[in-house]
Amino acid sequence: MSVRHFNFCAGPAALPTAVLERAQAEMLDWQGRGLSVMEISHRHPDYMAMAQDAESKLRQLMGIPSNYKVLFVQGGATAQFALLPMNLLGPKTHADYIDTGIWSAKAIAAMGPYGTAFEAASTASNGYRYVPSQADLKLSKDAAYMHYCPNETIGGLSFDYVPNTGNVPLIADMSSTILSEPVDVSAFGVIYAGAQKNIGPAGLTIVIIREDLLGRASNTTPNPFNYALQAANDSMLNTPPTYGWYLAGLVFDWLLEQGGLEVMAEINTAKAELLYQAIDESQLYSNNICVANRSKMNVTFVLADEGLNDQFMQQAQDNGLLNLKGHRSVGGMRASIYNAIPLAAVHALVAFMKDFETRHWA
Ligand SMILES: *Cc1c(COP(=O)(O)O)cnc(C)c1O
Repeated sequence: MSVRHFNFCAGPAALPTAVLERAQAEMLDWQGRGLSVMEISHRHPDYMAMAQDAESKLRQLMGIPSNYKVLFVQGGATAQFALLPMNLLGPKTHADYIDTGIWSAKAIAAMGPYGTAFEAASTASNGYRYVPSQADLKLSKDAAYMHYCPNETIGGLSFDYVPNTGNVPLIADMSSTILSEPVDVSAFGVIYAGAQKNIGPAGLTIVIIREDLLGRASNTTPNPFNYALQAANDSMLNTPPTYGWYLAGLVFDWLLEQGGLEVMAEINTAKAELLYQAIDESQLYSNNICVANRSKMNVTFVLADEGLNDQFMQQAQDNGLLNLKGHRSVGGMRASIYNAIPLAAVHALVAFMKDFETRHWA
């Protein structure tokens, strides 16, 4: 039997072992049909039933109201950075953006050819160590929407509130936080997420959009990326990422079996608290994010002596603790502890960190 190590990769990230085992069991013969789910038309009634079932489970998990459409599309969150203005600006020429890190800054940059991105607030000059408060948000007149990133995957920074934008639709890049805790979907105009952090394999992007925002796309928007067209075609205007959709459905099943998002949120909070406590108690490790804005999904930390980084990662790997290297743009370490990471993985990481500190620092 092969060993599955604890994998703290930021994305593509760990999937629940039970989900992979089920996918493996169904790989050659999907539910007695004598073929793989990958080898069937997306228009086959069996595939469509599976796809609809996956969507209804996502709706159940997140409590998605009936006036929202759910799209299962390709292109990743990065494609959405451009598709949002293409689909949502309509006759307007600008939108508001909150800048809290590398991903929200990329969304701002991608707005370039389509319209003007007004900066509602930025914490760049503070090294993205906290998020702006509601009172700090400057909302422009007549903005088409306001965009923000509730969880900055690279910085390990999280909003501890949902911005209030009044009648202006709020757009959230939830790539690294979707399904980690309950959210009030009705507070958002659009929620989108690449699948490979906390949903399923790369190649699938989920877009949850309020119906009244459909139909504003510019006429230069390619059809497969036109939200209204995809919504009207149940995400099957062209071939959707069929295997990713199937695997996401297995993850939704698994989440429902765990007890849903409230239960996941409790586990995720316990995991994050355990890890941050170990960091705060240590002399070797530190995290400089404002405590209220520390991410529960991506825990970043640096070693007091950066010369120990390589040894730390090598020894962690030797102990079955994989992919702790921080993003190349910020350095240090990052432990991504999405839904699929069990509490036992964080206990193992904390034990290793303490042991490493005793041997190399104390
Ligand atoms: C990973 C990530 C992205 C980019 O996702 P791609 O699928 O590679 O385009 C965008 N935003 C956030 C918050 C992410 O974590």
